[in-house]
Amino acid sequence: MLAMDYRGPRRVRIEHKPMPVIQHPRDAVVRVTRSCICGSDLHLYHGMVPDTRVGMTFGHEFCGVVEEVGPDVQNLKRGDRVLVPFNIACGQCHFCKQGLFGNCHESNAQATAVGGIFGYSHTAGGYDGGQAEYVRVPYADFGPTLIPDWMDPDDAVLLTDVVPTGYQAAEMGGIQKGDTVVVFGAGPVGLMAARCAWLFGAGRVIVIDHVEYRLEFARTYCPAEVYDFREIGDPVVFLKKITEIGADVCIDAVGADASGNAWHTLFGKKLKFEAGNATPLAWAINSVKKGGVVSIVGVYGPTGNMIPIGNVVNKGVTIRANQASVKRLLPRLIDHVQAGRIDPKGLITHRVPLEDVAEAYHLFSSKLDGCIKPVLIP
Ligand code: NAD
Ligand code: ZN
Repeated sequence: MLAMDYRGPRRVRIEHKPMPVIQHPRDAVVRVTRSCICGSDLHLYHGMVPDTRVGMTFGHEFCGVVEEVGPDVQNLKRGDRVLVPFNIACGQCHFCKQGLFGNCHESNAQATAVGGIFGYSHTAGGYDGGQAEYVRVPYADFGPTLIPDWMDPDDAVLLTDVVPTGYQAAEMGGIQKGDTVVVFGAGPVGLMAARCAWLFGAGRVIVIDHVEYRLEFARTYCPAEVYDFREIGDPVVFLKKITEIGADVCIDAVGADASGNAWHTLFGKKLKFEAGNATPLAWAINSVKKGGVVSIVGVYGPTGNMIPIGNVVNKGVTIRANQASVKRLLPRLIDHVQAGRIDPKGLITHRVPLEDVAEAYHLFSSKLDGCIKPVLIP
């Protein structure tokens, strides 16, 4: 079968690989029909996730058709259309029982923080992902969810990550009616978080980025008030001014190096890695109001030293963060899509044959050609 193949930082290609097989009674094999590239894949692509091995297939946002099931998978059969949450979760461990499906204890042998994730390095379990014609799905009696007949696969594939992540970003913010919410990052995740902020009752939604076409998109898609951080001086001072007491909720939908430059340069200068104020997370902490909430869905490496922890303590800021718990959120998100309150496929700008995976990574990483969300079609 054809599959994406990681060769090293910023080098991916298409390759012939062996077909996946059932390895455990709870496995399924899924024929992939849609597979997205995510901002999280860019962390792998940029070489910043530990233990990302050459030869791995990335891809944690995919949907498809069940090809084969193991003997313990009673709820699925060959031919079923399924969307597969990016978290690999057993559904039975201490953490899964609490609905923390992103922190499953069984699906990742290291099990120190994150649970298993498809195509996300050996730090996240070493599973091959779905940027391929076929993929092995462990714990298939728990994770995969039937795609309703009425649902477009372009909507379904975004329910595997972007929609639940954006929604959970807003949920973790504990948004109250009328709140001012600031979202850092106008990538797919930030755009979805801003859109979902309204569902929780926000009164004002502000999006900050520096990619012009993404800000333009946010203006109508979310819809949001938008600012280019290169044009507003110090974003913390600016946000204090326009919100008077600070934002009620700030959402970090950037993370480390999501754009390939957030950590390395700002205003064309090298960032100093000291207790500085120039990362989106520091901006969020410094511009939220006293007693406010900072919700982090941006993905970080194991350490980060740019957090103004003194302000967290002195302002009484609540920080909430996690990988999205996709399976927990799916029932209500499917309702929102059906009712037209969320438009997932509205984010897709590029439909690319799987064979052109290298070009798709380049477009998405470099923010070229108006790219917001690319979907690979095997
Ligand atoms: P993306 O790379 O498309 O978007 C990131 C955006 O942040 C870009 O538009 C970039 O220009 C912008 N940006 C860079 N520096 C900034 C700054 N200083 N201030 C404001 N904006 C800035 O990525 P995405 O797919 O939207 O994902 C966003 C983040 O969410 C990534 O870190 C990704 O790993 C993470 N993520 C987390 C989860 C989860 O479950 N927690 C799931 C999916 C993605
Ligand atoms: Zn993703």
